[in-house]
Amino acid sequence: MIAEVNKDECIGCESCPAFCPEVFKMEDDGLAVAYTNPVPAEFEESCKEAVEGCPAHCISLT
Ligand code: SF4
Repeated sequence: MIAEVNKDECIGCESCPAFCPEVFKMEDDGLAVAYTNPVPAEFEESCKEAVEGCPAHCISLT
C-alpha cells in the first residue's frame, strides 16, 4: 500500500501525523508528507484512519 499526500490540497491541519506518525509527518512548508512507503502492514489500520480523518480529503492510498 502506497500513501500519498496531495500537497496542493493539504491545509496543514496536522491530523494525519496524529493518527499515524509512522507514515505521515509535517514538513517545513507546513504541509504533510507520507514518508514511509510502502506502508508497513502493522501501520495500515492507523494509516486508513488518517485518510478518513483528513478534512481536506487529500490523502490517497493505492
Ligand atoms: S490530515 Fe490532510 S489536510 Fe491535514 S495535514 Fe494531513 S494531509 Fe494535510
